[in-house]
Amino acid sequence: MVDPATGDVVGEAPDLGPDALDGVVARATEAWRGWRADSAARSAALLRAADAVEAAGDGLARLLTREQGKPLAESAAEVARTAARLRYFAGLAPRTRRVDDGRPVRSEVRWRALGPVAAIVPWNFPLQLAAAKFAPALAAGNTVVLKPSPYTPLATLELGRVLADVLPEGVLTVVTGREPLGARLAAHPGIRHVTFTGSVPTGRAVAAAAGPSLARITLELGGNDAAVLLDDIDVERIAERLFWAAFRNCGQVCMAVKRVYAPAGLHARVVDALAQYAKSVVVGPGLAPGTLIGPLNNGPQLARVESVTERALAEGARAAAGGHRLDGPGHFYAPTVLTDVPPGSAVVTEEQFGPVLPVLPYRSVDEAVEAANGTGFGLGGSVWGTDLDRAEEVADRLECGTVWINHHAELSLAQPFAGIKDSGVGVAGGPWGLYGNLRPFVVHRPGEGWA
Ligand code: NAD
Repeated sequence: MVDPATGDVVGEAPDLGPDALDGVVARATEAWRGWRADSAARSAALLRAADAVEAAGDGLARLLTREQGKPLAESAAEVARTAARLRYFAGLAPRTRRVDDGRPVRSEVRWRALGPVAAIVPWNFPLQLAAAKFAPALAAGNTVVLKPSPYTPLATLELGRVLADVLPEGVLTVVTGREPLGARLAAHPGIRHVTFTGSVPTGRAVAAAAGPSLARITLELGGNDAAVLLDDIDVERIAERLFWAAFRNCGQVCMAVKRVYAPAGLHARVVDALAQYAKSVVVGPGLAPGTLIGPLNNGPQLARVESVTERALAEGARAAAGGHRLDGPGHFYAPTVLTDVPPGSAVVTEEQFGPVLPVLPYRSVDEAVEAANGTGFGLGGSVWGTDLDRAEEVADRLECGTVWINHHAELSLAQPFAGIKDSGVGVAGGPWGLYGNLRPFVVHRPGEGWA
């Protein structure tokens, strides 16, 4: 594993083979028998897990920055969110419910765990996305086999060691290695739920792999979120917040703003304000004090960002800021604001997943909404305006799972998170995330008046 800021080796992770994976799933199945039995003990263990993550916070955050690249403060925030998620789900339990259709029977819906869950996650938020999967799965009474990306296994392995001290053996196991490890895990007959976060093509492969075992699938996939600016915005006032909605974590955020639609009359001012801000931001190694944007996480991702940007420039786009790599050994790319971009350019229609933002003009709100809805993605979107009621009316027309007004990508632990179209299958987050890891178990017995 190399540090994306320096190219230095950070560490190594084991490459797990198929026989060892069978052993891990067998132990997860064995551990499930005890873990599913006692919800109070589970809740207490998850609270201890949250404390343990916080206690290990500084070391985890530094390791995360070294292998992922993000500024240290963002890694610390990611560790804090990992602990917060454990604490949130420790306090959630499914509700038993009586259902009634007017006949003299008593039907009671209880909830049962599914069994071993495979959690497969990408490299942009290794700890926080892992916790978004294992915290609800464990709270529901399942055991978990967690596979991080081969680009970022180290902080996750360390997290696994920290949690091994407070969770029973086999309840959460971190497995690392190159493909086909993920494919084998998704297809494993002992796995009862595959919960995956990553790209759309890999999501399709995971769904196909899980087909023969009929395991449940939850897929949180890519996004190409649009921000629609209305004509009553105060450009200079929103520029900084809009910038960070697109460029946080070097733009490597599934629900980052990836396209901006600005009214034609304000377009030049929006481009200018974003470009001025982009030029002022400190880009550097995540461990250096003052860094606000780190490197891209890996070479292929840097090459992809470079390629979609160069294609757009060749098609007539202009870089109002950036548009090039930065010197040095790391995977650094200058924060880039593009204007005059042809609407069909790949930087608009695909997910760039990096520090490059196209700003497109529109003439009518209908045109902007149609363009915002005009890709195969449907993760998030936002509308920015001073008249909040009008902004909400426009927001209501966006085809996506979450829409924000005057900000973007803010999430509460208690809300559902679900993409539509190519952006996902199933629901994570809040109680929906808990029930996504459970199956109903119905007890049907005669009630009063049964003949
Ligand atoms: P990726 O799809 O390449 O990899 C994701 C994970 O799947 C990694 O652990 C990888 O090793 C594993 N994998 C690769 N091939 C596999 C296979 N055939 N079977 C099973 N697992 C396999 O994605 P990435 O490049 O690591 O991450 C970036 C993508 O993730 C972007 O598209 C981004 O939008 C998406 N993402 C989505 C969300 C969300 O919540 N919707 C959050 C973060 C990232």
